[in-house]
Amino acid sequence: MRIAVYPGSFDPISNGHLDIIKRSSQIFDKVYVLVSINISKKYMFDSNEREHMMKIATKDLNNVFVEQSSDLVLHFAKKKNANVIIRGLRSMNDYQHEITLFQFNRSIDSTIDTFILFPSADNLFLSSSSIKELVMFNEDISNYVPKSLVTYITTEIKKRIGNI
Ligand code: ADP
Repeated sequence: MRIAVYPGSFDPISNGHLDIIKRSSQIFDKVYVLVSINISKKYMFDSNEREHMMKIATKDLNNVFVEQSSDLVLHFAKKKNANVIIRGLRSMNDYQHEITLFQFNRSIDSTIDTFILFPSADNLFLSSSSIKELVMFNEDISNYVPKSLVTYITTEIKKRIGNI
């Protein structure tokens, strides 16, 4: 069985993340979406909220399982019998980050490989921070996040930046 882990902050989820998940779910038998908790990172949405959004967005994908964890991604993957980590790559900036992460992971556990997917054209420029920024400037985000989460994400970001 081909099992993969897709780790990320998803703070908040975007159509770019969802596209990577949908495409991965057609390639792998099981995809675990790992909502990561990193104590050195500052998130706008807490881990339960990020997990909740991800569960709503992936509810129709029956081989996709969403969990949150503060484990090292490699340890989480081992626990799930996964031997692939999925990442998305948008730009040269991502490239620098992803290749470093890949080498780091590989030096710790060479049995777990990294699988890179490029974004679909519509999502090339999308990031969680651009979504927050659009909401801050009262722009509509309905083309950038899953339909079922547009209102929730917009309202919650506005609340948190004191714009409501
Ligand atoms: P991190 O905080 O680890 O960068 P993110 O939540 O930003 O996690 O993203 C998780 C993964 O999804 C990363 O590999 C990132 O490059 C990828 N990703 C983020 N946005 C997009 C997008 N618009 N299209 C494709 N991949 C993306």
